[in-house]
Amino acid sequence: MPDDLHTIETQVLIVGGGSVGLALACDLGGRGVPCLVIEQNERPADHPRATAINARSMEFMRRWGIADAVRKAAAPEDFPHTALYCTSLNGFEIARIERPHHGGRQPTAMSPERAQRCNQIWLDPILSVCAQSFSTTDLRFRWRFEELHEEGDRVLAIVRDLARDERRRIAARYLVDCSGGHSPIRRALGIGMSGSPYIGYHLSVYVRAPQLWTHHDKGKAALVNFVEPKGLWRNLVTLDGRELYRFGLRGKEFYDDPDKVDVERLFEEVVGKQIPHEIISVRRWTARNVVADRYQVGAVFLAGDAAHLNHPASGLGLNTGLGDAVDLGWKLEAALAGWGGPNLLASYEIERRPVGKRNVGHADMSHANDRNQKPDPAIADDSPQGARARREMGEAIVHAQTRKFVTDGIALGYRYEPSPICWPDGSPPPPDSVSEYHPTTRPGSRAPHAWLGEGRSIIDMFGRGFTLLRFGQSAPDVQPIAQVFVRRAVPLTVTTIMDPAIAQLYERRLVLVRPDGHVAWRSDDLPADLLGLADRVRGADAAAIGTAAKAEALRIGI
Ligand SMILES: Cc1cc2nc3c(=O)[nH]c(=O)nc-3n(C[C@H](O)[C@H](O)[C@H](O)COP(=O)(O)OP(=O)(O)OC[C@H]3O[C@@H](n4cnc5c(N)ncnc54)[C@H](O)[C@@H]3O)c2cc1C
Repeated sequence: MPDDLHTIETQVLIVGGGSVGLALACDLGGRGVPCLVIEQNERPADHPRATAINARSMEFMRRWGIADAVRKAAAPEDFPHTALYCTSLNGFEIARIERPHHGGRQPTAMSPERAQRCNQIWLDPILSVCAQSFSTTDLRFRWRFEELHEEGDRVLAIVRDLARDERRRIAARYLVDCSGGHSPIRRALGIGMSGSPYIGYHLSVYVRAPQLWTHHDKGKAALVNFVEPKGLWRNLVTLDGRELYRFGLRGKEFYDDPDKVDVERLFEEVVGKQIPHEIISVRRWTARNVVADRYQVGAVFLAGDAAHLNHPASGLGLNTGLGDAVDLGWKLEAALAGWGGPNLLASYEIERRPVGKRNVGHADMSHANDRNQKPDPAIADDSPQGARARREMGEAIVHAQTRKFVTDGIALGYRYEPSPICWPDGSPPPPDSVSEYHPTTRPGSRAPHAWLGEGRSIIDMFGRGFTLLRFGQSAPDVQPIAQVFVRRAVPLTVTTIMDPAIAQLYERRLVLVRPDGHVAWRSDDLPADLLGLADRVRGADAAAIGTAAKAEALRIGI
């Protein structure tokens, strides 16, 4: 390794300034943890990819103080989040799936935030401004990661400053790989990806078509899938709810030779007539449904697309990556501050990899429904046979695909089980549903939302350290717990909540919530082993790590 290079020191090096790297920088910034983000590009990406920001991700934005900015940048409040299936915009409608919990500004009973449609081309600049608002965050565009080395308890990275064409060395306590699906770090570490053998080849076309909905009778829709005798291979995703769209084409022939594709003609075909429009940019991409075999090697962690990739039809890749960032942020803070136990960081992979597998599995299954659809050859015919084919296919789509688009259970109901840093209480698990969210404080779950007062959710109390909630005046005195947390230097805030409805929602008189808003422990009484509780939740219970890892290995069959 070259030793004539000047070394830049940082606590956390984040490689990749896409949405997940920037989100992690926001989370660490809010915790006062110094970090350096390096991004090889000159600025955030300007060709659209992710648009669907689910309610849990919006809760993170709320924590980082940018939910309003994201809502403003998103599709207008009244833009319907409808998923539509039709032969063309001026052809026949086949199915329609509404998503009442998405969009708009009125919170639901499940969350203070609703899912929004804000594409990464607007989200990333918001995250970037937020990350750079912290004096502890350093964000360098046009810096490319090149080599990884370990030296004692530090990670050394060799990067190239592309503007000056100079090499630099960065020394960090931890490195988080947020460099996306082509991660050079994952490859350098020899970490494989496992999952479905599916590979889809696509072309993504960024189009401007002002007020497209005035040129057809189907109304506004967030997503349109075009059903044709040869299958489902074209779709249209609304971006700003005004004039911008992502037009998707599936097929190896498009991917292999994008310059030869007559995008104009293919777009006009799905609209069903000529309308004013402009093609802004065309990019090709591949889709896969795979999860990294490991999320951690020593002081290096994988997050976002570097750790998991899925077909975007279910809108999960970015949302899953944001969850990685939030799980890791407080653990890095705790490890650096010294109150995190020796095994706290190991819990990242144990908690997040199963979520990655669950979400990728869901995306694979629901997208398989689309790609395997074999429409009746008469599907677009104006005939009784065509009408019957459309009715039958429409019923089948609504039956099978509602799961793909209504994913409250995926967004809010994911649980860390087994987790070496949560204390299981033996209660039966709530149903593990994709579409429905069942509020619970069973350890490992996201602590449920409830309003404390005008515009203030109970989840707004979570974020910095641990929060111990007491419900009702008769809840046990928690001084003994507070004392052991002080002894272990674990930050803890104790709050008493008198509202009986919230007490009922939270199911126990005492609920301990982690800095990421997940329940670590709950009970009606003080634990018999007070220090054991503090050590478990801060990752200092070595036996628990072994047990959780074994349980996870058994569950996934390795
Ligand atoms: C067409 C499409 C639609 C999608 N729609 C959705 C959706 O609706 N909802 C959803 O949740 N997800 C969706 N996704 C997935 C989503 O875009 C990704 O999951 C998300 O971008 C992952 O973020 P990331 O930060 O992990 O990776 P990326 O956004 O890929 O960012 C990685 C960054 O690392 C940088 N980088 C790479 N190598 C280096 C290096 N050597 N040095 C420095 N920097 C480097 C890259 O330049 C890049 O900026 C979609 C994806 C596609 C392709």
